[in-house]
Amino acid sequence: MSDDRLPENASWIFEPNLQDLLGTLSRDGAIARVVGGAVRDTLSKMPVGDIDIATEFAPDDAAGFLQGAGFKVIETGKSHGTITALRDGRVFQVTTLRVDVRPHGRHAEVAFTRDWEGDAARRDFTINAIYADADGRIHDPFDGRADLAAGQVRFIGDADQRVREDYLRILRYFRFLAAFGSGKPDAGGLAACIRGRAGVADLSAERLRAELLKLLAVDDCLAAVEAFAHTGILMDILGGVVQPGTLAQLAEIERHLVRDPDPLLRLGVLAIRTREDAARLADRLRLSNDEHTRLATALDEAGHLSPVLAEAGWKENLYRLGEDTFRDRVLFNWARSGAGLDAAWRDLYELPERWTAPTLPLRGEDVLARGIEAGPDVGRILDRAEDLWIEAGFPGEDSVILKLLDRAIADAGPA
Ligand code: ATP
Ligand code: MG
Repeated sequence: MSDDRLPENASWIFEPNLQDLLGTLSRDGAIARVVGGAVRDTLSKMPVGDIDIATEFAPDDAAGFLQGAGFKVIETGKSHGTITALRDGRVFQVTTLRVDVRPHGRHAEVAFTRDWEGDAARRDFTINAIYADADGRIHDPFDGRADLAAGQVRFIGDADQRVREDYLRILRYFRFLAAFGSGKPDAGGLAACIRGRAGVADLSAERLRAELLKLLAVDDCLAAVEAFAHTGILMDILGGVVQPGTLAQLAEIERHLVRDPDPLLRLGVLAIRTREDAARLADRLRLSNDEHTRLATALDEAGHLSPVLAEAGWKENLYRLGEDTFRDRVLFNWARSGAGLDAAWRDLYELPERWTAPTLPLRGEDVLARGIEAGPDVGRILDRAEDLWIEAGFPGEDSVILKLLDRAIADAGPA
């Protein structure tokens, strides 16, 4: 075990709420440490996300001490040994040291211990079992730092057994491979994932979804996604087509446009070719209605939004879809077109920066004022007038608009 310290970029460890939390859980000879993502990401010079803490105290005791120190405590995960502590808008996951007694996936029975080595051995990968004390001192029982430096994602213990204990670790393997892997992946771990492949079928949609989106949120996830697809497991999870080539295109376009990775859209281009694909994906990963609608709408099976359209067609799309959906659809079609970093596609994508869609300057009252009786005809006439107005290039002058309205009334025929 090495006793180095966290590097300079780890100022978060000295944040007062965290220091207070660690101090509160360091009493009666017990200590608390930060572990997992925060330490790992700091060592890889990446931004730190959530902060996980390991404590020797049982959840009820830890909760009591923390409440006494002014933290709000949420006990949702208590049966698994985890509580959430909040203060001043900061969120900390506090997990009691534990060793699995009877490992059965996520419902492993847990026993609480003061055994730090046992706690480390229970974690999934060497890079996830690096601990930091309140003063930044590092404890690295499985030499996770060497694996981080070498770009190796290595299971702790026997890889086959670790996969059998919790098949979600297969997805986590590829997520961490995406974020930290370099060079050839550790053959033993990869083979264990492949051998454990069938177990993925029993994972809940929520867990699959969360891990997949985290994988796809990694900027440069492509090599890992390809490796994942190559094993066949990704196909099993998504239940159909997997198009890493299209994902590669989207990732390249995102970088070109200086857009943050969009995990949901990435999932869409990776796994959707038809509306049925979108529906199946929504079902398998329990996407929300909004997420499903977003992907189904971005998909645009007709594929007609492309730079080949005249500018009027671009504008019609932007007007009808709204800015967000317009951009989604351009990105989706652009990635699928295989055009690469093409200037015409970029021009299309940037239309909302040059032009804002006006609102239709006509309402029901305008139709009624032309002597049409209230009823379903009013809506039909308005729709027709809207089509004519778009066709005419969104004119703004009252006289032109009234002419369009009269044409729409004539087109609708006698009432
Ligand atoms: P991030 O929070 O950046 O997504 P993380 O590694 O912190 O990554 P968490 O889900 O927050 O992931 O888990 C915290 C730690 O708990 C992990 O670093 C790992 O040590 C352990 N852990 C989480 N999930 C598992 C699992 N399925 N099997 C074994 N250990 C796990
Ligand atoms: Mg974490």
